[in-house]
Amino acid sequence: MADDRQTDPLAGAHLDTLAVRAGIARTHEGEHAEPIFTTSSYVFGSAAEAAARFAGDSPGNVYSRYTNPTVRGFEQRIAALEGAEAAVGTASGMAAILSCAMALLKSGDHVVCSRNVFGTTTNLFGKYLARFGVEVTFVPLLAVDEWRRAIGPRTAMLFMETPSNPLCEVADLSTFAQMARDAGALLVVDNCFCTPALQQPLAHGADIVVHSATKYLDGQGRCVGGAAVGRAEHMEELVTFLRTCGPTMSPFNAWVFLKGLETLRLRMEAHSRSALELARWLREQDAVEKVYYAGLEDHPGHALAARQQSAYGGVLSFEVRGGREAAWRCIDATRILSLTANLGDAKSTIVHPATTTHGRLSAPERAEAGIRDSLIRVAVGLEHVDDIKADLQRGFALI
Ligand SMILES: *Cc1c(COP(=O)(O)O)cnc(C)c1O
Repeated sequence: MADDRQTDPLAGAHLDTLAVRAGIARTHEGEHAEPIFTTSSYVFGSAAEAAARFAGDSPGNVYSRYTNPTVRGFEQRIAALEGAEAAVGTASGMAAILSCAMALLKSGDHVVCSRNVFGTTTNLFGKYLARFGVEVTFVPLLAVDEWRRAIGPRTAMLFMETPSNPLCEVADLSTFAQMARDAGALLVVDNCFCTPALQQPLAHGADIVVHSATKYLDGQGRCVGGAAVGRAEHMEELVTFLRTCGPTMSPFNAWVFLKGLETLRLRMEAHSRSALELARWLREQDAVEKVYYAGLEDHPGHALAARQQSAYGGVLSFEVRGGREAAWRCIDATRILSLTANLGDAKSTIVHPATTTHGRLSAPERAEAGIRDSLIRVAVGLEHVDDIKADLQRGFALI
């Protein structure tokens, strides 16, 4: 009889099982829940062992800027959920994007970046990397021909988010993956809005996935952190960058994210279910002119999202009649939703993109991006959807 104990019990396991079981290295204490290793350094059994660890000849921990068991547990779990060989935890989502750029690009390289990415990502590429000789071309997410035209012999990376914030535009990952392969470039996808519970970009041919763990991976708005996920050869480059330059994940934050992952799929399904119901309800309201949510059958990205994602996520936006004044009045009338630009929290949040998240764009840039003054974004949390409707209704009654 084959000895079943020789094989990895999680080989071929479902996402739900991996979310709860991957990345566990039980200690001699026999603890059931994952421990937090709040230690900056590690002791060695002998001078010879210390020498071997420092030389890299013997595996094991040296210092928590290099490795930490709790951070490693988070890395193994998020890698398992994305179907990746490896992952690295970082101090924030921006640190994950910075690490990809610093570890995998060099002066003279060219990046094509979606215009419809997180605002700080635009600054990172357009302002800081440009200073170090990395040229960046920004292209609208859905303008596939412009992406093709922007790619040149020095293009080393394509960077995008799908679905986009706040209009929920959906890009075909396999088309972009093919484009990157043809160009000999890496496709890096920010999977913050869907998480691996709803979309696995690597399975569609992306090379690297980045996350702001601050959002849905935590899920309760407690900690700032990030992750990059992909092939071992790329993650090794990132590890070298992180060890040297320092934006590593704290063990406490890693533990919060590790536990957050256990409920990720359940939460993402609940966020998605409520967002779809809210989107359908919003469309019926007289005060509402237009609703942007890929779960609605008439959204231009609906069919693609239905193929590429297992649900449509928790973020939607809508335009109210009456421009900025009406939008602000509606936001100010809410008493349950939190007025904050954050998302991915159990608590629903509401924000006016034109004057906050997209406020630094010029008026023509905003117009080009389709961000009108009448637009409101809601990141639907885990409250009862009827209470979210009632809270928005307060404002609609004033319009
Ligand atoms: C928040 C966010 C980031 C940045 O993550 P931090 O953890 O705040 O550094 C990057 N991308 C997207 C899509 C985000 O929403």
